[in-house]
Amino acid sequence: MIDERTLFSPDMTMSYSLSDRDGYTCLWARRVDPVTKRPVGEPRPIHHSHVGSRLRITGFAVGRDRIFFGLAETTGNVWLANWSGSVSDTTRSM
Ligand SMILES: [Zn+2]
Repeated sequence: MIDERTLFSPDMTMSYSLSDRDGYTCLWARRVDPVTKRPVGEPRPIHHSHVGSRLRITGFAVGRDRIFFGLAETTGNVWLANWSGSVSDTTRSM
């Protein structure tokens, strides 16, 4: 699980973190007890980065009344390299 960086709402009633608790890196929120400052209840997802897109969350910040987060598109190809060092994209050579 990621949860390596947790940020709090300005009123300290919510915490936000990136977590892979569902198998993907998604943005999650959790209530914080205003007195004890301890987490309350289960985290709930704010944004899933795997539902209907190839976008993944790269980072986030908590503003006064909004959460900002960056998304990067994740795509990929399989490339081949010959022993001689020449490289080709499999989508063009197959
Ligand atoms: Zn998710």
